[in-house]
Amino acid sequence: MTTVQSPAAPVAAIRPKVMARTGLYAVLAANVAVVTYFFVQAGFASNALIVIGRLAGLYAALLMAFQLVLVARLPWFDRRIGMDRLTLWHRRLGFSLLWTLLAHAVFITFGYADSSGLDPVNQLVDLAETVEGVLRAVVALALIIVVGTVSGRFARRRLAYETWHFIHLYTYLAVVLAFSHQVAVGTTFVASPTATGYWWTLWTVALGSVVVGRLVLPLWRNWRHQLRVSAVVPENDNVVSVYVTGRDLDRLPARAGQFFLWRFLTRGRWWQANPWSLSAAPDGRSLRLTAKALGDGSAGLRHLEVGTRVFAEGPYGAFTTMHRTRPDALLIAGGVGITPMRALLEELHGHAVLIYRVATDQDAVLYDELRELAHAKGAELYLVTGPAQPDRLSKGELARLVPDIADRDVYLCGPPGMTRAVLNSLRELGVPKAQIHHERFSLAG
Ligand SMILES: Cc1cc2nc3c(=O)[nH]c(=O)nc-3n(C[C@H](O)[C@H](O)[C@H](O)COP(=O)(O)OP(=O)(O)OC[C@H]3O[C@@H](n4cnc5c(N)ncnc54)[C@H](O)[C@@H]3O)c2cc1C
Repeated sequence: MTTVQSPAAPVAAIRPKVMARTGLYAVLAANVAVVTYFFVQAGFASNALIVIGRLAGLYAALLMAFQLVLVARLPWFDRRIGMDRLTLWHRRLGFSLLWTLLAHAVFITFGYADSSGLDPVNQLVDLAETVEGVLRAVVALALIIVVGTVSGRFARRRLAYETWHFIHLYTYLAVVLAFSHQVAVGTTFVASPTATGYWWTLWTVALGSVVVGRLVLPLWRNWRHQLRVSAVVPENDNVVSVYVTGRDLDRLPARAGQFFLWRFLTRGRWWQANPWSLSAAPDGRSLRLTAKALGDGSAGLRHLEVGTRVFAEGPYGAFTTMHRTRPDALLIAGGVGITPMRALLEELHGHAVLIYRVATDQDAVLYDELRELAHAKGAELYLVTGPAQPDRLSKGELARLVPDIADRDVYLCGPPGMTRAVLNSLRELGVPKAQIHHERFSLAG
């Protein structure tokens, strides 16, 4: 497989990740300020509980819109921040949103109960029956509580990804119900034409981001590239490489280190999308993924037939050379974590060292091509074998293999235990955080 070598990119004055993160925080902070301003402009209710409840409702609406942007998979943010980190923020913010919504419901209900003399439960029933939009809000809140509950660690670990994802999709229904509730009863929403214009713009941008990032872009790319399986090559008993070709692949903006959510359109598996990294740098003619058999989805890959149609969402991920800060690099891979490293090694400029950690020689998939590639690029390649203990990538061992480690970008991808241990060693060896880039082979949870 030949590679189109991109020229070494100059290191940006502001790191792309920092720029994107700061941009997101700034947009959120500006919107909090605007919402607060409109709230004050609309005037206060006489009851303090209702005032707090309304403000909580507005902030919850804002958080909800922001949540949509985080999971919209917009390429600009995804390339800079990475889907794993964006998903993590979405998850954390999701729980804040849940508490803010609960605060909104409780304060409003108690506020009105205080004025009417009804008990809170009857007050809520009364509001739902008599005020347009409140029943929709109650249903939206119930849906979000269900989604929040199944997203808690305890439930998440026990649910199949697809089941959890299906339940999670109900959040979109909750968003629509919550929005129609705001249109119906939100005094701040209709306080002035400017306020109304603001809210409509906010929601159009948020929902538009999701529609573009999650529907339009994937559909457009797959229609354009018409992907199909061109070869299926077993690498060993457990690992298989799948080659995919298509039209105009030189126009697909994929980079080494990125991944796609792959959906193979056969009768038994079209509904299942799995994340697999590119295991070779895209060359404009084909894409390759290399997958270890874990569950049914990955194990079934070796039975795919040549010609099978493929629907791939992506490319996603920030594990790329865009985030380089130093001229030289160290790549550390554990097991099947070699896949993005194999692609990165092809694309990297400067001197590279690759450390490949596996249990036995037989587990070292793609090793022959790694050796050839390392030779062609003047890179150093170390195959480190043996059981997990004793730690063969300890601080001392890393410093021995790569004496100038603190002066390199370090790319790391491997099992969670190894990743944690290596991250600790890197910190102790004084590798600055900005130089450490790592990919997790899990997105949710
Ligand atoms: C960014 C990324 C890159 C990866 N790259 C590789 C690679 O190059 N090679 C490799 O062997 N493995 C890779 N993995 C791991 C791989 O995705 C899983 O091993 C695979 O999905 C397991 O699927 P399964 O159905 O065989 O296993 P099961 O144990 O049956 O399933 C595990 C669960 O993961 C699922 N899953 C699907 N989509 C997602 C998602 N978006 N987030 C979380 N879980 C999901 C499956 O559908 C499933 O329910 C990567 C994972 C991530 C997150």
